[in-house]
Amino acid sequence: MAVFDQLDFDNHEQVVFCSDKETGLKAIIAVHSTKLGPAVGGCRMWDYATEGEAITDVLRLSKGMTYKNAMAGLAMGGGKSVIIGDAKTIKSEALFKAFGDALNRLNGHYISAEDVNITTDDIAIANTVTPFVTGTEGKSGNPAPFTALGTFVGIKAAVKHKFQRDDLTGLTVAIQGLGSVGYYLCEHLHKAGANLVVTDLNQTALDKVAAQFDAKIVGLNEIYDQDVDIYCPCALGATVNDSTIDRIKAKIIAGCANNQLAQEKHDLMLKERGILYAPDYVINAGGIINISFEDDYNADKATAKVEEIYQTLLDVFTQAQLRNLPTGAVADEIAREIIANGGKNK
Ligand code: NAD
Repeated sequence: MAVFDQLDFDNHEQVVFCSDKETGLKAIIAVHSTKLGPAVGGCRMWDYATEGEAITDVLRLSKGMTYKNAMAGLAMGGGKSVIIGDAKTIKSEALFKAFGDALNRLNGHYISAEDVNITTDDIAIANTVTPFVTGTEGKSGNPAPFTALGTFVGIKAAVKHKFQRDDLTGLTVAIQGLGSVGYYLCEHLHKAGANLVVTDLNQTALDKVAAQFDAKIVGLNEIYDQDVDIYCPCALGATVNDSTIDRIKAKIIAGCANNQLAQEKHDLMLKERGILYAPDYVINAGGIINISFEDDYNADKATAKVEEIYQTLLDVFTQAQLRNLPTGAVADEIAREIIANGGKNK
């Protein structure tokens, strides 16, 4: 397959294929940009149907990290990694050590952390052979609760802009994905008085959220048709696509998933339908913001910085409205400007 010419390649500095026969490790590490600092971004484990799918995923995620870190004002570049395989069967101590060795060979150009199917325990194993991991227990720890907090304040910003309201009482939110982030997000939303409609592949996760937060469970494919105020994608990417976009009744799309829009055109299509889209890499930056405090960890400082997502998003929404542009396009423009200037505060 052609890689350099892929739209998602976007001038990546480096893309590395790593393998280890003994442990079965097959990983791809993508370093999109180190302009603002070492590339930092999580590692995802997924049983991709094809290698091409894995390449596209890692490239899109990695570019997203460059924009996310820039927008959040962090001195970090963007990168991401994927380990190909089924998390239920391929995980082993030796595999994560082999992954750690692969990180050592990049000598700090890329620093890894948790993403889908990768836990703090997995990162701790890699950490026994490499210093180039972050989000470790005892320091900043699991980023998911902070990603959830950032997504929650981002939803509040979207509600403020779209409905001119400061509270979520009585609003109905459809949450797709009740994993590490989705669960904590449900907790915040329930406490804030929102009604929850949820879906997930995992029945245990569904039962827990239904029991604890009085959530209504719907089928995987029914989530798009719900009569809700906010659609909150918290599973995998590309759920806003040609076949779902006209089914979504929500006036706001705001969730933690990466790469929510299947294609760039969906940004404009949402605007044309009067749906306010909170750009994914802006609203889901809470975890990486928390990780940026890793070396001198302070939960209060991390929380305060995560809460800045509220204002960052309001600024994006206001600019988009004033300039009659889609919100994703405006966020991209701001992020590119920050990168070109060498960081947010320069
Ligand atoms: P997770 O693996 O813990 O949870 C994902 C959940 O989605 C699981 O419960 C899974 O069963 C469910 N799911 C998968 N496919 C589904 C489908 N088709 N329909 C409904 N549910 C489905 O992952 P996570 O850490 O909670 O991350 C969720 C999303 O947020 C991912 O896109 C991730 O890249 C993104 N994200 C996570 C973080 C973080 O701090 N963990 C930070 C930024 C972005």
